[in-house]
Amino acid sequence: MANSQTEKQVRVRFAPSPTGFLHIGGARTALFNWLYARHTGGKFLLRIEDTDAARNTQEAVEVILTGLRWLGLDWDEGPLTGDATAAGKGECGPYFQSQRGENYRQRVAWLLERGLAYEHEGAVKFRMPREPVIIPDLVVGKVTRELTDRERLDPDFVIVRSDGQPVFHLVNVIDDLEMGITHVIRGEDHLSNTAKHIALFRAFGVEPPQYAHIPLILNIDGSKMSKRDKGASLLSYIEEGFAPEAVANYLCLLGWSPKGNREMVPLAEVVGLFDLPQILRHNARFDLNKLHWLNGEYIKVMSPERFRELAAQALLRLGIDTSRFEAGYVRAALDTAKQKVKQFNEVKHFAAFYFRDNLEFDNEALRTELLAADRKLVTKLRDALALVAPWDAKTSETAVKATATELGVKIGALVHPLRVACSGSTVGPSLYHALEVLGRERVLQRLDWVLQQPVPGA
Ligand code: GLU
Repeated sequence: MANSQTEKQVRVRFAPSPTGFLHIGGARTALFNWLYARHTGGKFLLRIEDTDAARNTQEAVEVILTGLRWLGLDWDEGPLTGDATAAGKGECGPYFQSQRGENYRQRVAWLLERGLAYEHEGAVKFRMPREPVIIPDLVVGKVTRELTDRERLDPDFVIVRSDGQPVFHLVNVIDDLEMGITHVIRGEDHLSNTAKHIALFRAFGVEPPQYAHIPLILNIDGSKMSKRDKGASLLSYIEEGFAPEAVANYLCLLGWSPKGNREMVPLAEVVGLFDLPQILRHNARFDLNKLHWLNGEYIKVMSPERFRELAAQALLRLGIDTSRFEAGYVRAALDTAKQKVKQFNEVKHFAAFYFRDNLEFDNEALRTELLAADRKLVTKLRDALALVAPWDAKTSETAVKATATELGVKIGALVHPLRVACSGSTVGPSLYHALEVLGRERVLQRLDWVLQQPVPGA
């Protein structure tokens, strides 16, 4: 026992089945594994548990890869190189169980030869030990798994089905064994499988890895989180324009917490702090409001460059390719949105108008603020803006105010139509800054467009 303490490099893995869905619980499992590997200077492997050929599709695998890449969880090894690349950025791997059939066949033959497994009605069954199995779990503590009444009658279990398919328990253990996994960090729902896994390891003559079963994620009301619950799919956060750094930070807090109850802890810092015994034993509750808040906090402190990068990605999801515009224009446009946006999908309101030839109008605003606007006022405003020099936020503001005074109207009578004409909506970034960025030509074009529209009811 004493000698087994010699430091072994930590090797952990995330082993999802490709179901076409990456649950945030799964993403958190991946994250905890990744954190532990990075904390200890070990290796993080990605293994796709795709023995169920019927459910397997390339798209389902892509969902997993997209989610992990988005969170910044790079994996270290893969079957192509068999070792970590210098880059280690996920250019290699992942491992696929579907490519490892020969390993499984050899291991089953090995068990059969030694009488540790036997054939039964065309299937192969594993001879499960009759004694209780002790699971020393790093999170849950020591768990003694007694046989259930049914198992007492027949504790043996199928490892290869009669159609030749090896089952989950078998392939999961063979892979962990052959990949040298030192710590199995996974959801608590697998605790009930672990006695079987430990028994299989021992049958192969190998000590099992250490286990750390992470408590489940519950909804805020304490109910079990299912696939249909809002926020359950990791990809929904990409689609809704969350910042990956905020989501990663939030996932860290689901079952782990740094000293002092801090909430905003960037992933790079968590790497230094994370350790398995600190994983909380009680179930974590998923609080979407808190994630929204955290996302807003991350955007507030985000560098302008990072903001522009994520904003441009969100615009691309709306079909707007900002790379087709001049870089200085894109920068200035996105900078006007930075103080307003709390979630990147809001660039739809705060920045999309900079890049559209034909604005997408908010119908209500179009009707009440624009088409109903007094055309004489709009014409005056247009003519005043045509003369503003130099064209910037300050001078255009002065011009709009002067025009309102000259016409004897409230400033709102000009500002509202101007805003809707230029941006399509009554909400948006600071109007005068938006005008400055849009430039005189675009602003006048947009006002001219309004003047060409028929007056309703006229
Ligand atoms: N494929 C299993 C799952 O997705 C892996 C469990 C494990 O991590 O051992 O639940």
